[in-house]
Amino acid sequence: MINILSKETVDKIAAGEVVERPLNVVKELMENSIDSGADSVSVEIKDGGVSLIRVTDNGSGIEKEDIPLAFMRHATGKLKNSDDLMHILTYGFRGEALASISGVSQTELITKRREDLYGYVYRIEGGEEKHFEEIGAPDGTSIIVRNLFYNVPARKKFLKTASTESAHIADIVEKTALSRPDISIRLVADGRSLIHTSGNGSLRDVIYTVFGREVSSNLIEINYEGPQLSLSGYIGKPVISRSKRDFEVVFVNNRYIHSSLISGACEEAYKPFMMQHRFPFIMLNVNILPELVDVNVHPQKMEIRFNPDADVYNTVRDVIREALRSSELIVEAAPSVKISREEKVSDNKKERGEKLSLSRAPEPFEVKKAAVMEPPSYYRSETGGSYVQQSLFKEDTVIKEPVPEKKSSDAGATSAACELKDRFISKEAYSEYNIIGQVFGTYWIVEYKDKMYIIDQHAAHEKVLYERRIKELKNKTVQSQNILPPIILELNSVKAQLVSDNIDIFSEFGFEIEREAGNDFIVRAVPSDLYSIAEKNLLMEIIDGLAEEGANASPEILKDRIASMSCKAAVKGHDRLSESEARELLKELLELENPYACPHGRPTVISMSKYELEKKFKRIV
Ligand code: ADP
Ligand code: MG
Repeated sequence: MINILSKETVDKIAAGEVVERPLNVVKELMENSIDSGADSVSVEIKDGGVSLIRVTDNGSGIEKEDIPLAFMRHATGKLKNSDDLMHILTYGFRGEALASISGVSQTELITKRREDLYGYVYRIEGGEEKHFEEIGAPDGTSIIVRNLFYNVPARKKFLKTASTESAHIADIVEKTALSRPDISIRLVADGRSLIHTSGNGSLRDVIYTVFGREVSSNLIEINYEGPQLSLSGYIGKPVISRSKRDFEVVFVNNRYIHSSLISGACEEAYKPFMMQHRFPFIMLNVNILPELVDVNVHPQKMEIRFNPDADVYNTVRDVIREALRSSELIVEAAPSVKISREEKVSDNKKERGEKLSLSRAPEPFEVKKAAVMEPPSYYRSETGGSYVQQSLFKEDTVIKEPVPEKKSSDAGATSAACELKDRFISKEAYSEYNIIGQVFGTYWIVEYKDKMYIIDQHAAHEKVLYERRIKELKNKTVQSQNILPPIILELNSVKAQLVSDNIDIFSEFGFEIEREAGNDFIVRAVPSDLYSIAEKNLLMEIIDGLAEEGANASPEILKDRIASMSCKAAVKGHDRLSESEARELLKELLELENPYACPHGRPTVISMSKYELEKKFKRIV
């Protein structure tokens, strides 16, 4: 039954324009379809939705008497009075969408309830009823919106190109599909099928359809039940991080929303696992008692407010952190994806072109720097490591980081926990490693249980040194060593300015630098692990690297750069490792909170399972 809200209730509803662009129409109509109990919703658009939007569902349908009411402002079947605003579980509640949409377009409704023999067609243009008659129709509702903004040219002018509007629509349809894996959702644009989910209830399947194989094979499941809220969904392993926030998708009680609070909590959780300025893949559904959220703060219902008592921030952060800690984050060399979808679904995705494209490979921290970082030959250990004056892994130089204690809080209730026992990087596993040897002077092969692990010695070494350096920095225990004779650096004025502006940061890292006359600097001491390899060119490279960051780089970025570059240099300087040194390296690596990627974001370890090998050799098919 649709009823008209009282003025008192209307006044409490966040007012504002519902329909600014075609995507708003699609969103509202899809939400209505879902609210009607449909398990199949199909969206069809032409010209970015401007000439036509049709949304068809197999839901409840609308009874005859309610049809004209549905198009009246503040007419809703979902809310009776303002008390109900406290317990909203439906998408709609304002009774505004159909009124707004039909006010700015030529709208046609065809609807039939399962219990009725006939359906109805209702036409309304610019808010004026044009036609209402009985017809034969399938169960459910279909709403066709033609010539959007035909009577408001001012608003039409602000629309972008059809392809841009289509892309926005595809985005909202995707988000809806992700929020409701139990509903089969389809989008056809100008005759081409862009999205089609099965509605089989598997979020992983929808993620595969929307984001493809790379993402769907690097997921960690989240499943947490707390007293006030529960969390479910998937988060991406750090290897599928992004440079933007566009993969942080959050649903609250299945409603897609923007929440800086939840994004912030997730990013905080990822901090030890992710490079700066990278953002995680998050597909999280927060289920919370409706009275602990206020969805009524934004006209398009995209923002919400949480009751502080719900402690949403801390819960989300702890659950995600725990899930990351307890999962195997090693990238598989040849993962086999167990997905029940046909390949052609991902072909659809390809057709859709760039909009959804995701960098399928982990981006290195900075590609262009890779060349700069190639070590000059003079400190490559051509003499079989004669520069190595002391083992890097002497007991007293190894700082033992405490292995993060697994909290027994209820935040640990993630399904990832079951992966834990056979994890490669864990104290328990370490004693069972079978180190096979090194190939190409770079990669260590380790056998453990039914997998083969391949460790990039440089990346692992860099990671270990980097973490050590960051820790020393934090504890102010950086060791530096005087060099004699000191090194003189002659810089251009830009670099001279950079060094002199950041001289304190350099000294925190153990570089003792002083400005001499003009743009000349004297380096009297360097971090101890650079001692044997510190030369003018090495220091110049570090400074060049900083200069590339530009003058406005934050101290944090500079610190990060100095740390990672000096580690890289130290690693190159101590190139060859004996097996026992490699063993020590692995040991130290596995004690880190995030051992899986080097400071540049490249993986330190990849794996290949016995199963994959046997498949490759066709022992199994
Ligand atoms: P709201 O969704 O906020 O209630 P709308 O203007 O979007 O307001 O819709 C008005 C009413 O029309 C809804 O409350 C619902 O009763 C009915 N309605 C709209 N779309 C559908 C649909 N696809 N199936 C069944 N009922 C619908
Ligand atoms: Mg609605």
